[in-house]
This record gives sequence, structure tokens and C-alpha cells, in this order.
Amino acid sequence: MAETADIVIIGAGIVGCSIAYHLAIQGAPRVVVVEQDLICSGSTGKSAGGIRQQFATEINLLLSIESLRMFHRMREELGVDPEFRQVGYLFMATTPAELDLFRRQAEIQQRYGIPVRIISPDDIRKLVPYVRLDDIIGGAYCPTDGYAAPYEVTMGYAVAARRLGVTIHERRPVTRILRERDRVAGIETPQGPILAPVVVNAAGAAGGVVGSLAGVEVPVKPYRRQLFVTRPLPEFSAEPPLTIDYHRNWYFRGEMGGCLFSGPKDEESTFNTNVDWEHVAESVAKAVARVPLLEKAEISRGWAGSYDISPDNNAILGAVPELSGFYVATGHSGHGFMHGPATGKLMAELILTGKPSIDISPFGLDRFRTGRSVREPMTMHEA
Ligand SMILES: Cc1cc2nc3c(=O)[nH]c(=O)nc-3n(C[C@H](O)[C@H](O)[C@H](O)COP(=O)(O)OP(=O)(O)OC[C@H]3O[C@@H](n4cnc5c(N)ncnc54)[C@H](O)[C@@H]3O)c2cc1C
Repeated sequence: MAETADIVIIGAGIVGCSIAYHLAIQGAPRVVVVEQDLICSGSTGKSAGGIRQQFATEINLLLSIESLRMFHRMREELGVDPEFRQVGYLFMATTPAELDLFRRQAEIQQRYGIPVRIISPDDIRKLVPYVRLDDIIGGAYCPTDGYAAPYEVTMGYAVAARRLGVTIHERRPVTRILRERDRVAGIETPQGPILAPVVVNAAGAAGGVVGSLAGVEVPVKPYRRQLFVTRPLPEFSAEPPLTIDYHRNWYFRGEMGGCLFSGPKDEESTFNTNVDWEHVAESVAKAVARVPLLEKAEISRGWAGSYDISPDNNAILGAVPELSGFYVATGHSGHGFMHGPATGKLMAELILTGKPSIDISPFGLDRFRTGRSVREPMTMHEA
């Protein structure tokens, strides 16, 4: 007898685990998550954990506001400490056009009650006194942004989902998505099929590959991103905000008393997640140019992961029109951790009732076919 389920979710990152938990809490029976490796072994486990509300489109703002509320409630709801540190996010501008952009967006964010403010170089100096500011003309700072622990949050959802009856299979790759004409019928794995009328593609940077297993084009590709962390530095004993050098596409934040900073960004799509140690000197030079004291810092570790990039750098969420029962929740383009909690809740509502409490239709897959892609000015391939 083949295994059966009511809903199969492919991928056990923050998105898959959050969807599974929210389906279970909203009363869905027989939910199964199928993960090719281990829970949180994909991009989520490689993320910088950044959580920001500084977006400019309504849908991203609402996903941030809802997720922030959920991060705050997580200890009570899931019984885990998400280690949410509200150190703030600071975007620094080098050109008048950048500052103008921040100012326009801050006005929109403030209308949603987000306490973002435009600050001067002197204000920036007070927040991050060791940053070279001679070319910085101002910034946008939101003190209620910050970062949390991706592994704790994802495991929190996974463990809570299991408690509610969800089965999570690890080391079970999905090799094919079964269909009966224009309906999804389940998945195939080396350990045998699981038949189900609903299948969710939550495969992160592999969202495009998993889409193709069903014969559906999901335009998501992996791009390697690298991070480095230094040993503790006295200057970082007071935690800085997550600070973004917008012009140079570079960021840093505190990490265990040291500095975590961004490294090279591949421009060609690749599933390679090796650290390019050969070129680490270039990453350090870029970091030292903005934070000179890093010259004397020692790098303690580095890692790389895949950004899950869609053509307009926004998530793809919703039902696949041409294959009934098949859903996508992928392509978060570098915001999947911060938007993971709300994504799970809304996808569960969509699957169970057809009516999510926030309208996620602007992020539907069909937007790429009808030319309605979402322009999010605060989306860069960063933090
Ligand atoms: C260096 C770096 C820094 C980042 N920083 C941030 C940040 O500060 N803030 C933020 O919000 N986001 C950040 N991101 C992006 C964030 O990590 C992703 O958007 C998010 O983790 C996506 O979650 P996910 O669950 O969709 O994907 P994943 O965590 O990748 O989970 C997908 C899972 O699907 C599994 N899978 C794939 N194919 C199959 C298959 N065929 N069968 C079974 N399982 C399969 C994979 O093994 C994987 O575990 C960062 C990413 C990187 C790489």
C-alpha cells in the first residue's frame, strides 16, 4: 500500500516548517513534510537572520509587520527562544538619490506605524562610531528591526508541528511530482511515493528545480552568498544595528561580540555553497574600507548559502493555476527568514480556506506571465 497524506510539503526550511505548523494549528489533518537533507540544512540555516520592516510595497510591509508580531509571540506560542535581538537596521546613503529614496520610503513605512527615521551622519556616528563616514550623507534607521536565530525558529516550528501530528521525513528527496492530468497526485521519492491531493513547493532556492519535477515553470534560481565572522572585538561589545552600506552593497552586524559581514555575491546562478577562501582577502579589504578597525580582526569562520532569487526579487506565493492542488511558497530572494512566519500562516489559510488574511495575490506565480511583477525599491540582494 502506498503512503498517503492530505498535504505534502517539499522542504523543511523556515517556510516549509512554518506552513506545516500553521496547517496543523488551523486543523489540517495528515500533513507530511519531505526534506532531502535535514531540517534547516538549506538556506535558512545559512541566513544572517536579519528581520526588517524597511520595505516600500504594501505586501512586503504587511508580511514584515505580521512576522514581527509572530517573532515576538514565539516564546509563548512555540516554547522556543527565537533569540530576537532588536538592534535596529541602519541603511546608509552615499548619494542624494539614495537618501531621497530612503526619505520617500520612510514616509510610506511611517504610515504603517513603523518607527523608521531619517538620520544625519552625526547620528550614524553615535550608533556605529567605528564606521568610516566621510562619503555618507545620511541614513534610514528603524530601531525595532533586528535579527533572530534561524535554527531555533525553524526547529521551533518543526517540533511544534510534530507535536500537532505532522510527520517530517528527513533524508528523503522528492524526485518527481505525480500528476493526474491537470491535478497533482502526490510525490515520488527513492523510499516510495506519497499520494496526496495537495503538494506545496517550499524548496527555497531549489524552487525552480522542484517546479520542473511537476512540469511547472517556477522562475527561482540559486545564487551563492557568503558571510564571514570575526573573533570578538572590544568595539562590538555594544551591539551595533545591522548596518547596510547601500551604495556598495555590503552589510555587517554583531555576532557573539565579533563582526559578521557580507562577502562575495555570485552573479551567475549556482548551487555551489562552498566558501571561496582563496578570495577572502578581497572581502576583508571591502570590509576594512568601511570599518577600518576590522584590519586587526581575525576571521573565525565563514559560510555560504543560496539566495532564492525570483525575477522581481520578491517571493512567489500561491496556487499554481495550471496544476490543481499544487502550491508554491518559494523565491523569497533573501527575505525568506524574516517573512517565513507570516508566509506559513498565510499559505495555510490559502490552502485551507482559499482566503488568506493578508492578500498575497500580488505575489502569485501568474504575475510573471501577465507582466504584473512587483517593484520593491527597498529590495536589493542584501539583508
Ligand atoms: C548568506 C545568506 C544570508 C541571508 N540572510 C538573510 C537575512 O538576513 N534575512 C532573511 O530574511 N533572509 C536571509 N537569507 C535568505 C533566507 O535564508 C531564505 O530566503 C530562506 O531561508 C528561505 O527559506 P526556505 O524555507 O524557502 O528555503 P530553505 O531553507 O532552503 O529550505 C528549503 C528546503 O528544501 C529542501 N529541498 C530542496 N529540494 C528538495 C527536494 N527535491 N526534495 C526534498 N527537499 C528538497 C532543501 O534541502 C531545503 O532544506 C539569507 C540567505 C543566505 C544564503
